This record gives sequence, structure tokens and C-alpha cells, in this order.
Amino acid sequence: MIVVMKSGTPQGVIEAVVDHLHGWSLATQIIIGRENTVIGLIGDTSNLADDRVQELSPFIERVLRVKKRFKRASREFHPEMTVVSVPTALGPILIGGDAPPVLMAGPCSVENESMIIETARRIRAAGARVLRGGAYKPRTSPYDFQGHGESALGLLAAAREATGLAIVTEVMDTSDLEMVAEVADIVQIGARNMQNYALLKKAGQQPRPVLLKRAFSATIDEWLLAAEYILAAGNPNVILCERGIRTFDNQYTRNTLDLVAVAVLRTLTHLPVIVDPSHGTGVSQFVEATAKAALAIGADGLMIEVHPEPGRALSDGPQCLTPDQFDAVVDNLAPIAEVVGRPFVRSRAAVR
Ligand code: PEP
Ligand code: MN
Repeated sequence: MIVVMKSGTPQGVIEAVVDHLHGWSLATQIIIGRENTVIGLIGDTSNLADDRVQELSPFIERVLRVKKRFKRASREFHPEMTVVSVPTALGPILIGGDAPPVLMAGPCSVENESMIIETARRIRAAGARVLRGGAYKPRTSPYDFQGHGESALGLLAAAREATGLAIVTEVMDTSDLEMVAEVADIVQIGARNMQNYALLKKAGQQPRPVLLKRAFSATIDEWLLAAEYILAAGNPNVILCERGIRTFDNQYTRNTLDLVAVAVLRTLTHLPVIVDPSHGTGVSQFVEATAKAALAIGADGLMIEVHPEPGRALSDGPQCLTPDQFDAVVDNLAPIAEVVGRPFVRSRAAVR
């Protein structure tokens, strides 16, 4: 249930209404909008008549029911779009709302110092603001490269130091979260852990924004309920990432990139949504076309795998672009960003 207060309602009245609702054993979240303040109610409101709430104050404009199971993630609860701000040495990166699409790029895994720093320099010159790279890798086979772990976190920190880029890297285990969040500017929860509720709750209790990737077979509601865990635990900065889902056909692509999910999510949630065309397709050749489509349908950013030598990558080589290819792709994406009214801020001279 949400309670929309009339514009100009005195603060004392809002507090009195909130106190009353707490007296009914309901938790509240106050969302201050441009026009109205909205009080979101969390708890069992099934037996609470709308009229009883309406009668609490003449300053209540209306009382609405949020029918979805996700509350804090819903646009009903939070009509204004969330813009996640990531502080960096080069100034804050804004993700969501009307901000220009953010480009996150880098290798699947952090392999060694020279490759991560070289890749960071190249993607930054191409216009990316966030460096991706896994220290902890969730691999289908236990015999595949599992990531260098803690030492790779140190290399990511060095790459940030060298370039000023923000870092996004995956956490797989609650016991590593603190250490990962010390280095990461954005903590990634991968597809395989989207419903790891212990990890979601813990990610909600730490201050870094969380990039929540969609699980292979998650419905949009399940994905938003996973985001709800993070929001409910106290972290409002969640970025959703569509990375392809399992369908009947994986002969030519690794996954099926569900681009319409971006448009659907726009109607359901205020949270920013980015697209990962690298995992979404699994094929470097298809990254540009799907990245263009993602921007055209309204994605707030892209996460693209880039490796200096994809043929030698320790993970996901077939879907990685070379730095030169990434550069060309960004050039070709720029007109799409322009057409959707969110042109890249991309002063190459300034970022080199
Ligand atoms: C990744 O981004 O490296 C990754 C493992 O992605 P996903 O969780 O989407 O498979
Ligand atoms: Mn990968």
C-alpha cells in the first residue's frame, strides 16, 4: 500500500501519519518526490481498509494498493527513476534516469597486471567509465580457471589507480563480500547467484551499489524480487543487468538476449537497467548489433567483455572484443545514443 501526501504537507503531519502506521505494526519508507511525498507501507495490509488510512489526515491525497510482490523495486512505490551515482576520481558516474548510457568493459577474468592495466587504458580511451573483470569466477566446470581471487582484487585497484575508472567485480560468497566491496565501486552479483538470498541480504547491508545480473531462467518477477531483497536490507542502489536467458535454441548463440525485458522493466521498476550483450550472445560478432539494439530499447548502459587477445583468454574468449573492436563498436553506438536523446559524453581528448 502507498499513501500519497498532498503537495506542501507539513513535515509534522507526515511524521504523525508515519507514527500511526508504525502503531499498526507496519514498516514505512518515505519517498520524497518533486511534487509529492509518498509513504510506502511494508507489511501485511490485506486486512487494512483503504478508508481507515485515508482518514488519518486530510493531507492524504490518495491511498493506493501495490499489487506486485515487489514493493520497493516498483514504480508505484517509487515513481521517480533511481539514478545510481558512483563516485570516482574523474567525477561521479550517473547510471539511470536521463543520464547518458554508461559503458562498462573489460575482460571476463583478471588474468595479470599488464593485461588489466592495458585493457583499462584502452577502454577508457574509447569512452568507458567502468572497468569490469572477475577476481572470483563462477565456472560451470570445477576444472576451469576459477579466477585469481584476492590478488586479482589488488590488480583491479591498481587499474583504477592508473586510469580513474570505477571497478565492477563479482562476489560469489558472503564471506568475501567485505573484501570485494573494499575494492569494488560496484559489487556484481552474477546470474548463478541471483537467488542466493544470504548474499543478496548481505549485499543490501553494505554501501556499494549492486549490479544484479538476471539468472538464466529467472522470470522478471523473480529478478525484481531478488532486487527487493537488496533494497529491503537497506541498499537503494541496485542496477539490473539483462545477460541472456536459456531458451530452446543455443546452437548459434550462448543465450537468448531478452531485450524486451528492458522495456518491460521500464514500466515496472525505477531501477536502472543495463545489458550485457557479451554473455547475452556468447559470440563477439553479435555484440555490436545487440548493443545497438539495447541502447535503442532504452538500456541505461552496457557491459561488454574486452580482452587484448581473445584467443588466449582464460575465460569467455569467443565473446570478447579486442580493444580496437571495442573502440569501433563505441563509435557505432554513439549515433544510437544520440537518437534516443541520451548522447554519450565522450571527449576522447579529455579521457586519454
Ligand atoms: C560475468 O559477468 O563474468 C559473468 C560470469 O556473468 P553471468 O553471471 O551473467 O554469467
Ligand atoms: Mn564472462
